[in-house]
Amino acid sequence: MIVIEAKLKGTASQYAKIDEAIRTSQFVRNKCLRFWMDNKGVTRNDLQKLCSQLAKNRETPWVKQLNSQARQSSADRAWAAISRFYTSRVSHADRLDCKQSKSGKKGYPKYKKFNRSVEYKKTGWKLSPDGKEIEFTDGFKAGKFQLWTSRDLVFYSEQQIQRTRIVRRADGYYCQFLIQWERKEEHEFNGNVVGIDLGLKEFYTDSNGNTVENPRYLRKSEKRLKQLQRRVSKRHQKGKKQSKRYHKARKALAKQHLKVSRQRKDKAIKDALALVRSNDLIVYEDLKVQNMVKNHKLAKSISDASWYQFVQWLQYFAKIHGTICIPVAPHYTTINCSGCGAKVEKTLSTRTHQCVKCGLVLDRDWNAARNILAKGLQILAEYLNSSEGHSRTGVKNPNARGEHDHWASG
Ligand SMILES: [Zn+2]
Repeated sequence: MIVIEAKLKGTASQYAKIDEAIRTSQFVRNKCLRFWMDNKGVTRNDLQKLCSQLAKNRETPWVKQLNSQARQSSADRAWAAISRFYTSRVSHADRLDCKQSKSGKKGYPKYKKFNRSVEYKKTGWKLSPDGKEIEFTDGFKAGKFQLWTSRDLVFYSEQQIQRTRIVRRADGYYCQFLIQWERKEEHEFNGNVVGIDLGLKEFYTDSNGNTVENPRYLRKSEKRLKQLQRRVSKRHQKGKKQSKRYHKARKALAKQHLKVSRQRKDKAIKDALALVRSNDLIVYEDLKVQNMVKNHKLAKSISDASWYQFVQWLQYFAKIHGTICIPVAPHYTTINCSGCGAKVEKTLSTRTHQCVKCGLVLDRDWNAARNILAKGLQILAEYLNSSEGHSRTGVKNPNARGEHDHWASG
């Protein structure tokens, strides 16, 4: 599956109609949730039935205007939230000793107030033969929009397009096309293996001592992001109606967020692809993203976000190229000597690794990257040598983490 995204070019009144469609999708989703809360033993099928009832209801005439498959998609969204809640409850029960089990309501499906998207399946829209225009044909009659994208939709048949989704962003409306397409690249195996250490100063250092920096343009954009964030906080008035100046600053911040995330994505794709192309095996530290989100330092959270995205693309490209990409636990990769295994304690400011036992002197991150690679090779060996496979060693199939969730990345 791939996703192609295009900006929708239309008039203000057309955008207003899209807003209505988005609101209706949210209305259906919330109604489904309400129905589930009020009744026992509700199934996915019941929600689909509720959709057609809502469409027939004269008190909610707008529901009928939304394409029937789009209505079903909205019900499915509600269902997804409900089933997520059930699965999270099961895993909570599994770890009763864990602190998290105290928050019993965690993951309970919530009503959405500021939904930003509406999803269509195979009907309710029509693509022009040259792939440069789309027309939305359901009851909202949003009409024809020009599609602005760098990638040509004309190469894909309409049958290949599984879904389309309209998304509202800070700088306009976008249409995403989910396209059925298996991508495979010929990989030239060259025997290169690499471990990478993700850092704050350098973006990463590899086990051969090469470093990849955070580019200047990205640092600049991130600095601007911080400024705008401060401006919004300063203009925020607690418990009062917010001023025009506040909303202006808030919009500017949203736009800057979008800019940074696009730049970061482009950079992540470029770096990840280069690394996958030139190596048969890549080992990286498994950074626990859930823990990172709790980190309140902005500089740290920004770099964590780029690492996370980078790693997602690494896995994605490794899968396409048929190469191996393994995460390893980050413990001791910094203090262990990559030459002899001795423990060499370091403070955060110690930039050089100096081993008294074997005399190895290396940059701190380079040493860590070498340890990371060794850990990855060890895991791979354990996996391959274990007769019962992963069930015995507890090592998961290195590529089992699955493809990047494209919908979520939007
Ligand atoms: Zn040593």
